[in-house]
Amino acid sequence: MKLGCIADDYTGATDLAGLLRRSGASVRLHFGLPKESSDCSSDIEIIALKCRTEPIDTAVRDCGEAANWLLTRGAERLYWKYCSTFDSTAQGNIGPVAEALMAITGQTQALYCPAFPENGRSVFMGHLFVNGQLLNESSMKDHPLTPMKDANLARILAPQVSGSVEIWDRVAQKSGTGLPDATHIIGDAVEFADLEFLVTNTPPNVLLTGGSALAMPLPRLLDISSSDSVSDPRPGPRAMVLSGSCSQMTQQQVARYVEHNPSYQLHPETLNEDTIRDCIQWIHSIDQEETPLVYATASPDEVKAAQSMLGVSEAGAIVERAMALIAREAFDMGVRRFVVAGGETSGAVTQSLNVSEVIIGREICPGVPWVFSGSNQDLVGLALKSGNFGSPSFFDDALALLED
Ligand code: ADP
Repeated sequence: MKLGCIADDYTGATDLAGLLRRSGASVRLHFGLPKESSDCSSDIEIIALKCRTEPIDTAVRDCGEAANWLLTRGAERLYWKYCSTFDSTAQGNIGPVAEALMAITGQTQALYCPAFPENGRSVFMGHLFVNGQLLNESSMKDHPLTPMKDANLARILAPQVSGSVEIWDRVAQKSGTGLPDATHIIGDAVEFADLEFLVTNTPPNVLLTGGSALAMPLPRLLDISSSDSVSDPRPGPRAMVLSGSCSQMTQQQVARYVEHNPSYQLHPETLNEDTIRDCIQWIHSIDQEETPLVYATASPDEVKAAQSMLGVSEAGAIVERAMALIAREAFDMGVRRFVVAGGETSGAVTQSLNVSEVIIGREICPGVPWVFSGSNQDLVGLALKSGNFGSPSFFDDALALLED
């Protein structure tokens, strides 16, 4: 293994895996902490945790264990992956985990760059833009769990860390002043060449952290040159779509899909054993040729109403538990292709299907590959999409790619 990566959620990890797979490197993705005996023979091993909104102590402990697993198995370099919209709060985990990883590796500085130019995320003067809008003016301001109210990444990071924070802006990068001295450095990047610049101009004493795109230059830098062209496995044809994401793009994707497909909406306020059973009965009644959608996706107002009735984390947890249960029942009915929208939602579904390790297949759109787990009758294909990824036709695009 040359490169070891730790990601703070499951869809973010598949996004990273898909982009790194483009290099021709072999990539394996572990959901949750791998076992002592888990395979680690790929060029790149990625450990996906579900620690974005966990208490800091838990996130630091889990990421530390993941780092030790990777380092004792030969990882030459570690990469800390979080969301390209820097999802966190003042009590967030991005900074504390970076400091914990630095303590483990002995690195003295950390670079942060969530930019993903291909997906419209750019960082300029330390401010994060999403499709040209400042982060705090984008739909991320209404995220159910990590509403982003500021676009200045230095200001978001500073309360999370004990060391100094500085911005390495694009003007300074171009003028050749070199990496700032601060412990934590926010790197500007508005195009892919900027990400290559950051990675190649960052010495090994600096921990690299960011979205998935900053990792893309690493396979070349680490001289990972394998290029296997294996074809994707083919899971059984029965498919379903599960959406627990309330992001703006997911709302469009759901709106488009429900027009032509059997669809069932879950409401957190009324979710209980009985209503979940109703949904499962409904899935039983659907023609096997059809691909049903079960969704809790709702507008910001509807989400707020559910949260004020149930509490923020309970509203999320109720939906995630329901999605997990429904996915398990669907598997028992023979469903083997799952398209899942939502980072947290994907984590819940993957866990309930007992998927602990996947190989990476073809990309559906930038940052979202099909991934495969299990074998023979139990071979499962998963398209795990976080919030704002994909175009409005994403669900159909994903399903069509496996038909190909
Ligand atoms: P994204 O990738 O868009 O951020 P996630 O699945 O990570 O999506 O997060 C969305 C969160 O919102 C999940 O915890 C989910 O259970 C919760 N959720 C989904 N639908 C609703 C709803 N109608 N009301 C309140 N919370 C919801």
